[in-house]
Amino acid sequence: MKILASLIIAFNLISIVNLSCNEKSVEAPKFDSSRAFEYLVKQVEFGPRVPGSREWQKCKEYIANHFAELGLKPKFQEFEFFDPYSKTQLPLVNIIASIEGRSADPERILLMAHWDTRPRTDFPTRPNISDKPIPGANDGASGVAVLMELANMLAENRPEHSVEIVLVDGEDWGKSGDNEYYLLGSSEFARRGIRGKYRFGIVIDMVGDKNQEFYREVFSETHHPELNDMIWNAAAELGVTSFIDTTRHTVLDDHISLVTSGLPAVDIIDFDYKWWHTDQDTVDKCSPESLGNIGKVLAHIIYNPQLWPAKK
Ligand SMILES: [Zn+2]
Repeated sequence: MKILASLIIAFNLISIVNLSCNEKSVEAPKFDSSRAFEYLVKQVEFGPRVPGSREWQKCKEYIANHFAELGLKPKFQEFEFFDPYSKTQLPLVNIIASIEGRSADPERILLMAHWDTRPRTDFPTRPNISDKPIPGANDGASGVAVLMELANMLAENRPEHSVEIVLVDGEDWGKSGDNEYYLLGSSEFARRGIRGKYRFGIVIDMVGDKNQEFYREVFSETHHPELNDMIWNAAAELGVTSFIDTTRHTVLDDHISLVTSGLPAVDIIDFDYKWWHTDQDTVDKCSPESLGNIGKVLAHIIYNPQLWPAKK
């Protein structure tokens, strides 16, 4: 993803507690942060997951096997994109795993993260590496790791409502300024039809920073403040203090593909990551605790549908 605008003065939002909701929250199953972190490490060990590369292919199999072993029958959305930089067809694959809920409600929750890594280093810390891909420990692997661990939880403890995990490809393909060459996987996913299929969507990206700080992303807040309320209230209820109830950045990320196609969705992203799009986006900059924070908040939301915004 890339930043669209940075607000110089962040304004504090008044957190509105939903007083109409009398039902008590249930406790979600425990999120295994250490295991989630192992999934992050493993992805980085493959090497950069640049679309079409051998490392990308291996990682795709690894992720799909994880879901298959849980009995979730992963699906691939395969497609090609004419790459304007190499003038060749770029193969891309979205990986989808569905966890069927206990209720007959056909609407599901969509959880999304991108599994590709950026093919170039925008801010190299060493000379002559700007054309090399980034390791993508936080930018890429972290969101995937959290959703892989949530899949373990959900497969073992079926929630009331179905959940669809979508790992999109080609999020980070474009060169700076070429906004139309980002979000390739989520655009394709949305193009195939999403309206009415999901109650809402949550995109997570760069969620593993050791110094985690989640602010409300501005595009999300403008279009779906009710979803941000749900998330930041859940974090407050759980005492997760890395969710700071203020807006801060406007980020071009996969939620834009969803929102512009009519699906209520927001992005949870820690954009104050010092190693963003550098060769130093490595495992040691991330922590199991940070993955645990976001995992806990998402689990709380999934298992407590009374916290969800009313159906429109
Ligand atoms: Zn990125």
